[in-house]
Amino acid sequence: MFKAVMIEKSADGTQSVAIRDVPEDQLPEGDVTVRVEYSTLNYKDALAITGRGPIVRSFPMIPGVDFAGVVENSQHPDFAPGARVILNGWGVGEKHWGGLAQKARVSGDWLVPVPAQLTTRQTMEIGTAGYTAMLCVQALQREDVTPDKGPVLVTGAAGGVGSVAIMLLSRLGYHVVAVTGRPEEEAYLTGLGASEIRARQDFSTPGKPLDKARWAGAVDVAGGVILANVCASMAYGGVVTACGLASDMSFPSTVAPFILRGVTLVGIDSVMCPKHRRLAAWAGLAELIDAAKLAAMTSDITLDDAIEAAASLLDGKIRGRVVVRMP
Ligand code: NDP
Repeated sequence: MFKAVMIEKSADGTQSVAIRDVPEDQLPEGDVTVRVEYSTLNYKDALAITGRGPIVRSFPMIPGVDFAGVVENSQHPDFAPGARVILNGWGVGEKHWGGLAQKARVSGDWLVPVPAQLTTRQTMEIGTAGYTAMLCVQALQREDVTPDKGPVLVTGAAGGVGSVAIMLLSRLGYHVVAVTGRPEEEAYLTGLGASEIRARQDFSTPGKPLDKARWAGAVDVAGGVILANVCASMAYGGVVTACGLASDMSFPSTVAPFILRGVTLVGIDSVMCPKHRRLAAWAGLAELIDAAKLAAMTSDITLDDAIEAAASLLDGKIRGRVVVRMP
């Protein structure tokens, strides 16, 4: 038996969530079985656990879109027992049992090795949010947004993606402008490396198709009007990476930023991201992460706490990243 967060749906459609003891022979198909050491609480996991978003595609489901741990059994050529591995995405925690459990069984093709410089715990302090932040940063780099081009904006700054993005960008020498709805987090954000703080409300009401040209790059986790306003205030040739919908899923913009300022909008998806990009992201994270800042932005909870913490995360009450320790 292993312990897991289990989401169930009754015949009348009501969702319930509890910690359950699950027989190991019920683990899903896969050629690698992992003893999970750490998982995390991501935005998507919180939507799944609370039922506030349609994340779970089949029931019963163990949520958790990421985990790190040690291979117990493997029929996959790349991973021997004892190997330290990370999983991000691939529908795990949505349609395949996920990481908020002591055990997981997945396809070895989905796994990446833990970089030698990182502990398994650190990989989950980074988690899918941090790996997505790195995908955004590397997309800006591929589009030639170098630090000399101008400031880079990060929305949802005090959240998981935002916090790691600020840390990475500042480490790379960018002038980072953090957009937050929590002005009380100013000291936290400047501690991570933000040079300026802007209020979320400056971006959250519908604006003009083009605003004053300010930013060379942007990492946007918000979507909606905020993303539209970010696009409208990009400098000529600026690049926006869009990875989230913390505000909403709409995109009420015009083509003006794209056809008059040559702005580029780059979509970032961590779930089906090809393996070479994942490996590059994890290699970049291993090189750039500041262990002390990472630890400072992380709160630690147990599997039992995960259900309650999910609602707090969606209510914007949690700062940075949440690591879930397995019993
Ligand atoms: P968090 O909940 O940790 O952070 C989200 C942050 O967004 C909050 O901390 C808050 O920051 C800000 N925020 C909250 N509500 C609103 C709102 N109504 N309008 C604008 N900003 C808001 O989540 P994550 O950082 O883990 O994820 C952020 C987004 O990125 C989510 O939408 C998630 O689904 C998405 N995501 C996408 C991935 C992909 O593959 N594309 C992978 C991982 C995440 P503050 O208080 O500083 O304003």
